[in-house]
Amino acid sequence: MAERTNFKSYNKKIAIDDGEGGSKLRVYQRIGRGVESDRLLVKCGDCHEKIQICYDDTYGIEIEGVYASIAEWRRVLLPLLYPKGDGPDFE
Ligand SMILES: [Zn+2]
Repeated sequence: MAERTNFKSYNKKIAIDDGEGGSKLRVYQRIGRGVESDRLLVKCGDCHEKIQICYDDTYGIEIEGVYASIAEWRRVLLPLLYPKGDGPDFE
């Protein structure tokens, strides 16, 4: 799997400028043990809204209870993350 972001360097404070006109997300990582998968808790930079993302290195990712393969999430999310079509080329 690709090298992961060091979330410890991510801020835990609210309303930190992201340099793009908004606020940085607040990200908390939990490394799973045993049957528990790794998890990211991603909180809004401005309020207490949050989403939970569970993931493993083999098949899938679960975002807010919706489970699908990594390939399927790529198909859905890459066009949103790279609206100019300049993102990585998968499938
Ligand atoms: Zn918010």
